[in-house]
Amino acid sequence: NKQIILRDYITGFPKESDMVLRTGTIRLKVPEGSNSVLVKNLYLSCDPYMRSRMQKLDDNYVPPFTPASPISGYGVAKVLDSGHPDFKEGDYVWGFTGWEQYSLIENPQPTTLMKITYTDVPLSYYTGILGMPGITAYVGFYEISSPKKGEYVFVSAASGAVGQLVGQFAKLMGCYVVGSAGSKEKVDLLKNKFGFDDAFNYKEEHDLVAALKRYFPEGIDIYFENVGGKMLDAVLANMRVHGRIAVCGMISQYNLEQPEGVHNLFRLVTKRIRMQGFLIFDHYDLYPKFLEMMKQYITEGKIVYVEDTVEGLENAPTALVGLFTGRNVGKQVREMANG
Ligand code: NDP
Repeated sequence: NKQIILRDYITGFPKESDMVLRTGTIRLKVPEGSNSVLVKNLYLSCDPYMRSRMQKLDDNYVPPFTPASPISGYGVAKVLDSGHPDFKEGDYVWGFTGWEQYSLIENPQPTTLMKITYTDVPLSYYTGILGMPGITAYVGFYEISSPKKGEYVFVSAASGAVGQLVGQFAKLMGCYVVGSAGSKEKVDLLKNKFGFDDAFNYKEEHDLVAALKRYFPEGIDIYFENVGGKMLDAVLANMRVHGRIAVCGMISQYNLEQPEGVHNLFRLVTKRIRMQGFLIFDHYDLYPKFLEMMKQYITEGKIVYVEDTVEGLENAPTALVGLFTGRNVGKQVREMANG
């Protein structure tokens, strides 16, 4: 059983060498009397929140990884054996599994392991558009941002797993949407594939306040926050009265030992802005509603999806580290070789 383990807790930017490939053993049978599920992993997801699990923090909102044990994360798998009444051999599932060929998933919960019933799409979609990032975009936009037709929406890290969907949801609602991303290729994707009204490369803008003023001369109603830091500060200076900021993530801060200061917070008062963070783990009750909506949008061709597939478990560390340099174009997923 090939596995990727975390060598030890880290500080600063993650490196490929922080993770190691090793070969372990696993009994391909669920222990007698347990409610575990034994799976063969098919697709594994790389997600930015995994960085916080690579260290022990005072406020880990997901438990840290255990050094020298396989890294855990979202994935898509096939059930080989099951002691759990909800799963049987041959089922396809998505949820929390391990960075390894085979995983014994102990005591699965309804929000940690889900049976895949809609199979008209590639199974890898359950690491992204129909998985955790998908429902994050859905909750963050429809539930947290209180969007209305015609509003001005800005999305950062817009070509990624979450951002590409937020932008498309906003367009379907009749909003004006601009996205930021870190390369020309990504900016082109935003404009030509995902249908954003406009997009820019934030790495080429030395004055982000001025850049946002150019794209939103009348100001921003909704900011879907994925990056934090300087971008958040510049957005605050460009928000409209009664604007909303859905704080989904702050990837620019995850590897810093000292978070960057944000100076324009008083705009929350003067512009009567609602800024709200959320964690998707609190909202899985909305998954069935989300799935119904997405099935229809995908069937009707109203939503498109771009994923960046890397093959093989051994390439997992490079793919994870790449999230923090913008190496991925679209949702970063790993296909297990010979899956
Ligand atoms: P992405 O697929 O967007 O991948 C991460 C992207 O972030 C990179 O490709 C890169 O794109 C961008 N990025 C990396 N470093 C920086 C930086 N220093 N400054 C600006 N941009 C940077 O990831 P996801 O769509 O999966 O996640 C997006 C955000 O949503 C993250 O902050 C994540 O933590 C958060 N999240 C929150 C959840 C919740 O429950 N609240 C659940 C899921 C995700 P580029 O080339 O454009 O720089």
